[in-house]
Amino acid sequence: MSTIRQVELGYAPCTVCDQDVRLRLSDGTRTRRVPVGVHGPRGDRCPGSRKPGKTFLEYTGLPTWDRMSDLDKGCALMFLWKCHWERSYAYARDNYPCTYRGDQILAGLTRLEACRHAMAVTGGYRAIDRMLGNDEFKRLYDLALTADRAVS
Ligand SMILES: [Zn+2]
Repeated sequence: MSTIRQVELGYAPCTVCDQDVRLRLSDGTRTRRVPVGVHGPRGDRCPGSRKPGKTFLEYTGLPTWDRMSDLDKGCALMFLWKCHWERSYAYARDNYPCTYRGDQILAGLTRLEACRHAMAVTGGYRAIDRMLGNDEFKRLYDLALTADRAVS
């Protein structure tokens, strides 16, 4: 059972009214964030129409990287390393999902949500590897590895 807000695939919460709005169909231009569709009553459309909706982290309120414990950071890194090694987010998610062990809310996420969170807070393996550097990456990773061995 999930405890966080569920947003249907193809929808995002509006940044103004917070209602889940269907994303606009792609017009072929590549944008990082897809805007939500026009919504609200005729003659009084929501000003959030045609703007990018809330991100996963924004609408769930889950901790960002800065607010995570070192142990949970390591847990996220273990998963990202698997994605990198297997060259597949989907394969890593299905076979070596992110397992948080510190923060209670993070530890209570479903496996899919935890994987999504790990990607959202880091921007993926290359981005976080570049930001942390090898030594810090390894230090955090080893924390999670030790915890992982203790429970399995
Ligand atoms: Zn709105």
